[in-house]
Amino acid sequence: MIHTIDLHYHAGQERDPGTTLRSYLEHAVMTGRRVVGVTDHLDLYLDPRKLISSPLYSQNVAGILTLRDEVVALQSAFPELKLLFAPEVPPAMALVDIPAAIIEIADYFICEAKLTSSDGDENTTQLKNRITEAAEFRSRFSKPVFIAHPLRHAIDQCLVKAPIPRWVSELSRRDLQNHTQEDLDRFFGMNVREVGRTAAAHNVPLEINGNTWERARASNLPAPLRMMLNVYRLWRDSGVEFVVGSDQHGFVKSIGRVGGTVPWEVCEVLGIEMEDIRFLQQVGVL
Ligand SMILES: [Zn+2]
Repeated sequence: MIHTIDLHYHAGQERDPGTTLRSYLEHAVMTGRRVVGVTDHLDLYLDPRKLISSPLYSQNVAGILTLRDEVVALQSAFPELKLLFAPEVPPAMALVDIPAAIIEIADYFICEAKLTSSDGDENTTQLKNRITEAAEFRSRFSKPVFIAHPLRHAIDQCLVKAPIPRWVSELSRRDLQNHTQEDLDRFFGMNVREVGRTAAAHNVPLEINGNTWERARASNLPAPLRMMLNVYRLWRDSGVEFVVGSDQHGFVKSIGRVGGTVPWEVCEVLGIEMEDIRFLQQVGVL
């Protein structure tokens, strides 16, 4: 059952007020998770521009090692969970710049890609370069890596961080069961086919990210969700390997327990089962 696998579960510096790492793991158990990749953003430890006024962990290498030690120490209290530790590498950070002490203790890395442009060719190149970089890093350091939320940039640009452009709202008025390549490339701001080919060629998994899916669903527009499914289908058919993660940061909202979700329904639509997530073997699960 896909919802039991959450390879992207934030539980560090940005925890909800009044919670602990233990309560995050209790929430994981209650919500059916069994494999949990605990993560935190590396820049919240290593980037002097990201200073927090009272950080939960010191903002240096020692801080993230402390978080990892806490995860390891709590494993025996949560026998129903398989805990992994997987720092998230920010878009601007080269993978080879990750300090050796962090590489050593990580089970795997969650790698963000830098997509800042509205120029599709430039985004395609950035993403392909990041995929290649991830493959090189994996063979040099023997640490598995996947690419985090490859469709996030487009969803943010078109739906979240600015008024929704008319052409995007209008997309949902058309029959989009069969999108053209142009529709997909325009909406996602990249050549999705080329990105898929590169990921498949290097065997670098792309993430089906719950938070991106939820952001798209929150627009109320059917087209973005259908288009995301079409990209995933196209990638699946080009041999892309997938991983799943909720990218949940918190689960305590004003009305109670509302966290993020592993996008299991996307996998159901795509026919992706747990055994299709080969990354799990690389990180010692399955
Ligand atoms: Zn994340």
